[in-house]
Amino acid sequence: MGTVYDVYRENNGNRFEELKRSIETYEQVKGTIKTGLEDREKIARQKARIMERLGATEEQWKDYRWQLKNRFTRAEDIAEMLGLSAEETDRIKAVGERYRFAISPYYLSVIDPDNPSCGVRRQAIPSFDELNDQGELDPMDEAGWTPEELITRRYPDRLIIKVTNICGMYCRFCQRRRMIGEHDAHADREQIGKAIDYVRKNKEIRDVLITGGDAFMHDDATIEWMLEELRSIPHVEIIRFGTRAPVTLPQRITDSLVNILKKYHPIYVNTHFNNPREITEESKAACEKLANAGIPLGNQMVLLNGVNNDKYVVCKLNQALLTIRVKPYYIFHPKTVKGTSHFWVRVEEGLEIMDYLRGRTSGMAVPTYIVNGPKGLGKTPILPNYLCYIGKDKAVFRSWQGKVFTIQNEIR
Ligand SMILES: *Cc1c(COP(=O)(O)O)cnc(C)c1O
Repeated sequence: MGTVYDVYRENNGNRFEELKRSIETYEQVKGTIKTGLEDREKIARQKARIMERLGATEEQWKDYRWQLKNRFTRAEDIAEMLGLSAEETDRIKAVGERYRFAISPYYLSVIDPDNPSCGVRRQAIPSFDELNDQGELDPMDEAGWTPEELITRRYPDRLIIKVTNICGMYCRFCQRRRMIGEHDAHADREQIGKAIDYVRKNKEIRDVLITGGDAFMHDDATIEWMLEELRSIPHVEIIRFGTRAPVTLPQRITDSLVNILKKYHPIYVNTHFNNPREITEESKAACEKLANAGIPLGNQMVLLNGVNNDKYVVCKLNQALLTIRVKPYYIFHPKTVKGTSHFWVRVEEGLEIMDYLRGRTSGMAVPTYIVNGPKGLGKTPILPNYLCYIGKDKAVFRSWQGKVFTIQNEIR
């Protein structure tokens, strides 16, 4: 005799076939969009070549100070490691005279030398397109929202403190390229102290974001000093760090750093993965170390032409991030920063990605898509339309699969 489940199987069978079909293409292509973990042998080969070129030991490679000191800053050296032509090398040099570049040996090893359109390469290697002068140097008008040196304050209860202009790698799409300048410079304790005093005096500030540049480029002692100072302010509830170190310089996430951070909870870290290839053994280990110290990790992706403006790439990235305990937090629409126009995308591209993710994968893998209002108008969320009609007595929606439904909108 059949059970009730035989009837269910019979009646519901088509339903599950329909679900499978909704991610059929992704299932076919996801194997071709490799994370760094999936392409680990190639990355290991590049690492060996770079280490040999620099005469480095494994111990040096693991030392973030060595990584910082040995960042690639010469076009010829990059060309040698990636097998670039003389013409490409000259172009990198020409762009480098306008916008500086520096790439940690580690991040260079993640670039696929066989793929000219590698999404990691595009973020790090200067492109001739940077000489296109569209856009502005400060489209967000940070200068206009600065109540104290190092601070940007656009919101009532939180602000950012930019404690350095140093990074493990200078992203070609950087929103603050105007600050990267010719020289690496940390803000000193006097400057940072003044910014912290501003927080102390303004009691409504309950959330402080330490960023840069890359907040973790400071040494452990300075980071601990900042945390001590901020924790001496009763109205500071949470402290967040903005850092790409897990991605571009994962060696920076040392046991001694996380042992400092975890003394000052609640601490949050928002990092910045843009492409699945950035998820490697090393970046995974860095994120896990932070997560094990009780630090919730968020990812702030920037939507970038040629890096991740593809729904399957973002789906793969966000799923892979969850496996290393990083929660996709934001997708930022690119800003119209001068020298970055080759990265710009249309709003429809972001909406298509958001529409694809919802329903097809874990809600945990669906971040908020943000357009930043020009001149500092702030983060503005956008979603594809799910609400088709709203009236006095009913509201009409479409589901993630495009099925239209109505709910009652009148409470008696
Ligand atoms: C992005 C940003 C914040 C933080 O915004 P959340 O939405 O809270 O993550 C705070 N201040 C400034 C100036 C920012 O640009």
